[in-house]
Amino acid sequence: MSILSKFEHLAQTYDRLGPVDSNPLKVTFDRILSSTEGLVNGRQTILFGTNNYLGLTFDEGCIEQSVKAVRSFGTGTTGSRVANGSYSGHRDLELSLADFYGRRHGMVFSTGYQANLSMLSTLAGHGDHLILDSDSHASIYDGARLGHAEVIRFRHNDADDLHKRLRRLKDHPGSKLIVVEGIYSMLGDSAPLVEIAQVKREMDAYLLVDEAHSMGVLGKTGRGLSESAGVEADVDFIVGTFSKSLGSVGGFCVSDIEGFEVLRVACRPYMFTASLPPGVIASTQEALRRLIQDGGLRVRLRDNAERLYHGLSRLGFHVGPQASPIVSVTVDDNETAVRFWNLLLQGGLYVNLALPPATPTNKPLLRASISAAHTPRQIDTALALFADIGQRLGVLPVPAEKSPVAMVA
Ligand code: PMP
Repeated sequence: MSILSKFEHLAQTYDRLGPVDSNPLKVTFDRILSSTEGLVNGRQTILFGTNNYLGLTFDEGCIEQSVKAVRSFGTGTTGSRVANGSYSGHRDLELSLADFYGRRHGMVFSTGYQANLSMLSTLAGHGDHLILDSDSHASIYDGARLGHAEVIRFRHNDADDLHKRLRRLKDHPGSKLIVVEGIYSMLGDSAPLVEIAQVKREMDAYLLVDEAHSMGVLGKTGRGLSESAGVEADVDFIVGTFSKSLGSVGGFCVSDIEGFEVLRVACRPYMFTASLPPGVIASTQEALRRLIQDGGLRVRLRDNAERLYHGLSRLGFHVGPQASPIVSVTVDDNETAVRFWNLLLQGGLYVNLALPPATPTNKPLLRASISAAHTPRQIDTALALFADIGQRLGVLPVPAEKSPVAMVA
């Protein structure tokens, strides 16, 4: 018996995918040509499986600032800010983020994952309650596991269920922290934040919103769902990431809460890991400036998202409940999903393949994500490929003029 035997079921999931050409674990990008195109196995491929919502990974200004910072400050900090000190860029970025969100405090983390690990494990401790949406991202669940609070899940996007669960805790001492996401990463749906904020107020809880996929996407100025829903005053903590709209890596939390700074010596995933390298900090700072100053990026993103979402929906695919930069097509079984995904890749289109149990619907998903940088032509190419493969695999009905019955008639 090997020490890895306990992962047999995971290995089997991949073995069961059958004799396919490729799977997501095998995909290697030989080169990235732009924010929307790369080379996979020497083939030019349109990228519809990134979280590069504003398309800033090749932005000239971001690259220039990053290179300048590497030349001035070096390639890495080689240590944690608590033990080895901060660079001016860390502090400047925290101030910029706090300013953008209109909050007094900001803190940056080495990844978005660590931002959630830090905040959830630290804010809610012994005797407190964490109330999580059941479709929460792994970083939220892992943050809950790292801490000592009692964890309660409520039905996905169901404010009434949240209310019910909080009512049961009414006489329990200790703080209650509700955690939801601006846009959920699998189906692209948003939390009903107006209703959730109302429950939070009534039940005297705290509210944390993870705006990882909604920063730069939703809201008049791109601050996310809290802004578009008009409930920013009810949100105590906003968590986000730099790895999506800002095109780099890292995470953050902003808040107005009194005493916020103590978290720097309480959050273990902040204290015991190396801080973000200067090049990343500098490109993120520039990307944030672009996000704030170029509202046109958000308009293009929304137009592209609608073109893809309504296009797939009109073709007859089963898509998520609302148009957003994440557009997922639900397929009935794993085998069809894997074949579909491979045919898309062979046709020059890269999307994400998500298999149950890692999907909210327990069905496989072909998850496409859109960017402000995609051209209408790239989106139409994607739609044509989806249509063709969907018909070949029987996911879509064959149109009348191509059906054998029509040909015989
Ligand atoms: N929160 C959510 C909702 C996410 O989807 C992700 C990553 N996809 C994270 C946090 C973690 O962010 P990062 O990948 O930047 O660590």
